[in-house]
Amino acid sequence: MTETATPPLGAVCVFCGSSTGEDPAFAAAARAFGRTLARRGTTLVYGGGHVGLMGVLADAALAAGGQVVGVIPARLAERELAHSRLTRLILEASMHERKAKMASLADAFVALPGGLGTLDELFEIWTWAQLGFHDKPIGLLDTAGFFTPLLALTAHMARAGFVREANLELVLSDDDGERLLSRLEARAVSRSPRSLAGV
Ligand code: AMP
Repeated sequence: MTETATPPLGAVCVFCGSSTGEDPAFAAAARAFGRTLARRGTTLVYGGGHVGLMGVLADAALAAGGQVVGVIPARLAERELAHSRLTRLILEASMHERKAKMASLADAFVALPGGLGTLDELFEIWTWAQLGFHDKPIGLLDTAGFFTPLLALTAHMARAGFVREANLELVLSDDDGERLLSRLEARAVSRSPRSLAGV
């Protein structure tokens, strides 16, 4: 009997900083992750900006021959924050429509280090999974232990009785981008897709 290989994810939505952060390891990991997505033939869906880790990630994926789709509110694009060389740039009217579009285009979600915007996007998609509005896998690319305090807080919330253990397990964490994507792929095939229509 021949073994069936796990199919690659068609598109991964990445949330990450509009700054590069202090540690050069963050930009190095974003660059490597962009290249990894391109090599695997997985489309990058992201916030469409050219600044910070977002720009580093998109540039690396494009330079490696990957497909990159940016989704940005028209107001941010007007302020010249949009990346000008993407495979496709989708303009949305509001931040809410933008987040819903990014979610609908993706087969999985990955957060890289970032700030408040990144956490907002991560927690929204995590909450939607908790509520059963989607069944797409979620991962953290945990470069230089960036997400250790966040995982400590969510574990504390579970111990305090505010989060169910099963809902913590909706998010995978790994410091290696290749391995994280393989784990997300394995999780994606074991689940039946649900639409985001209820969101
Ligand atoms: P932050 O983590 O606060 O730097 O915000 C980054 C996240 O918010 C990204 O994943 C984007 O989707 C969104 N975002 C913030 N700033 C921009 C920008 N200038 N252009 C596009 N998206 C942005």
